[in-house]
Amino acid sequence: MKIAIMGAMPEEIAPILEKLGSYTTVRYAGNNYYEATYKGVDLVVAYSKIGKVFSTLTATIMIEHFGATKLLFSGVAGAICPTLKIGDLIVASKLAQHDLDITAFGHPFGYVPEGSIFIEADKEMIEMSKEVAKSMGKSVREGVIATGDQFIANEEKKNWIGATFGAHALEMEGGSVAVVCHALNVPFFKLRAISDVADMDASFNFDTFLETSAKESADFIMKMVQSIIENAK
Ligand code: SAH
Repeated sequence: MKIAIMGAMPEEIAPILEKLGSYTTVRYAGNNYYEATYKGVDLVVAYSKIGKVFSTLTATIMIEHFGATKLLFSGVAGAICPTLKIGDLIVASKLAQHDLDITAFGHPFGYVPEGSIFIEADKEMIEMSKEVAKSMGKSVREGVIATGDQFIANEEKKNWIGATFGAHALEMEGGSVAVVCHALNVPFFKLRAISDVADMDASFNFDTFLETSAKESADFIMKMVQSIIENAK
């Protein structure tokens, strides 16, 4: 077993590297990958840079080059569901790409031939996350996450994404990483802490809450990793 832990931005993986203490930095394809052993299990940690293309590249490299057999994503997201507040945690049940649009040919939003609108995350890790949440005394929501190459700071656009995909939160990397993991048969788990509610104040709130929300997510991910390792024994 080798576990990949991925974020999009430095702030999303900094708390993870801090927890690991010592690691080896490997430079590959224009990015840094951090290799470490945690409780006897090999880890590879990286942030991809923002968006679907960079996250696709990083996820692929973590699996194909570094040999990751499970992938966990930790980061922040904008909330769509009004009951999700800044700092709340959401685990993706399934993910879609909200900006994928060949509807001119009669296809639904988020669909291309031979693909599927939604890709489901690993059920076993989702179940495990409920136990982890319980042990931490935290509540974690499960919901649909929509991904696109846009920072959403617009109520109307947010509501459209919510209505079209039944999505509860939105971000810019989850859907593409899901495509990679699904194609390469690697179970994945996506966790996001809410940094903003994708409205006109989104960029201000994002800047204010990025660090605390990213840490909230990273702390949970490390507990998940611990639980995965203990369950594998
Ligand atoms: N402030 C950054 C840009 C952040 S882009 C800079 O200037 O470099 C937003 C990042 O957080 C993405 O990685 C995305 O996955 C996530 N995210 C948080 N809120 C979002 C929102 N409202 N819309 C889209 N992505 C969001």
